[in-house]
Amino acid sequence: MVNQTAHRLGTAPNEIRQVFEYGRQQAKLLGEDKVYDFSLGNPSIPAPHELNQAIHSIIDTESSIRVHGYTSGAGGDLLREAVAANLTRRFGKPIRPQNVFITCGAAPALLAAMIALHTDESEIITIAPYFTEYKPFTEVSGNKFVLVPADMEHFQVNIPALEAAINEHTQAVILNSPNNPSGAVLTEETLRKVAELLTEKSALYGHPIYILADEPYRELVYDGRKVPFIPNIYKDTIVCYSWSKSLSLPGERIGYVMVADDVTDSQNVFFAVAGAARMCGHVCAPSLMQRAVAACIDRMPDLEAYDVNRKLLYNGLTEIGYKCVRPDGAFYLFVQAPNGDTRAFIEKATARNLLVVDSKPFGVEGYFRLGYCVSKEMIERALPVFREVYEELCAG
Ligand code: PLP
Repeated sequence: MVNQTAHRLGTAPNEIRQVFEYGRQQAKLLGEDKVYDFSLGNPSIPAPHELNQAIHSIIDTESSIRVHGYTSGAGGDLLREAVAANLTRRFGKPIRPQNVFITCGAAPALLAAMIALHTDESEIITIAPYFTEYKPFTEVSGNKFVLVPADMEHFQVNIPALEAAINEHTQAVILNSPNNPSGAVLTEETLRKVAELLTEKSALYGHPIYILADEPYRELVYDGRKVPFIPNIYKDTIVCYSWSKSLSLPGERIGYVMVADDVTDSQNVFFAVAGAARMCGHVCAPSLMQRAVAACIDRMPDLEAYDVNRKLLYNGLTEIGYKCVRPDGAFYLFVQAPNGDTRAFIEKATARNLLVVDSKPFGVEGYFRLGYCVSKEMIERALPVFREVYEELCAG
């Protein structure tokens, strides 16, 4: 016998990966130029030159024993100090290195935070559409998964729906801004309303309801938009971050959990995060990457290529007639399927090797997700195919 939950997760199809693998097969059979694959969220902008230079310089100049050795579980001082100084400088909130726990990316950061917050009958609220891993992470950590639909007009938080979902067992609400899959950025107005509601409910139930701010896309915003720093709006916020997207390092596995001093029970939450990471087998994040990221801590991503793709795809699709909220961040478009029928759209699109992801695993029906972290040239080739599918589905 094996663990049934683990087995179920291990055998469950990863729908995004399946679409991607199908695209690879078709490209081999028909040629790359006959496939239009928008399935993955793998950054297409290369990691910055400074980062590669930093890696070379660290390897060339530092002791190999130290560079490849263990750091402490919470991370080496170098990166924890760099993160604390960077956050303090940018957001004006005093953050100490001791508030920062370096993880192997945002996914383990989230899981550790969820395990840390688990108590008897605890519930964690997710706003749909959501990053697919929230559900297994919430459940594996022992918490009840509670889903609240977003306000689908702008993908902001539906405050009455959130209020209705909160009860005495609510431990946390996950907020992901900029959002995967919608590309929406939560406005300061939305966040203030959420903060007001959670403050009121925390007082009512006599314990803090935390925000888990999942922020791997924090720096990926366009048109000068600002992403509010949630701990400045609601103090009981636990930040989960990674450099997977901002420095294009998804395979290097590096991120952090940040628990500021003014979070209720801050020290205990921090130690519970450390213990939760240990429960998941965390020893330390990759040492070389810790040093390389510390050297590039102030480097902001150059988003030009994503921005060009965003405009090309959004303008092209809406001109054809597709309906979609203009994304302000991340690198996804969340598009309404013509006639609300995602299956019919995907069938016709896949027959033309136009590959997209069904919205169902993101917790809503009737949409599909496009990752525009692809080449501009592929978008240009794909737009006439999008038109063909649209016209076929909407004919008559
Ligand atoms: N959260 C969201 C919203 C994501 O889209 C992703 C990855 O795509 C993650 C977390 C996990 O990021 P990481 O690669 O840093 O574990």
